[in-house]
Amino acid sequence: MKTILIAEDNPSSRELLREILTAEGYRVLEAADGEQAIAQLRASRPDLAVLDVQMPKVDGIKVVRAVREDPKLADLLVLAFTAFAMHGDRERILAAGFDGYLTKPLDVRALSSEIAAVLAGRMKREIS
Ligand code: MN
Repeated sequence: MKTILIAEDNPSSRELLREILTAEGYRVLEAADGEQAIAQLRASRPDLAVLDVQMPKVDGIKVVRAVREDPKLADLLVLAFTAFAMHGDRERILAAGFDGYLTKPLDVRALSSEIAAVLAGRMKREIS
């Protein structure tokens, strides 16, 4: 079973993500801010993290930078979860170290397929 950390300060968004991903068969860990996210990542080393970009204490951009600088977490798959969809935002998010992103409001079908694709891509990289 694959484990996914959801870091999102909005309780209803977090609950929605948890319900969808649990129904898809993933084990789900949760964090309500960036500080909790970093602690959870270090303690549990999930297969994938979905990080809200705008979070209290430590924002998602800073969390992904901390992940990339930590030798034990550097290769973790990390998706941004964000309402930013202006021109240039995609580049800015990917440049920060995210592997991809999900846009708000959440597209449930896109979520399932994006996560499956990201996890499948990782497996291919591990095999080759
Ligand atoms: Mn937020």
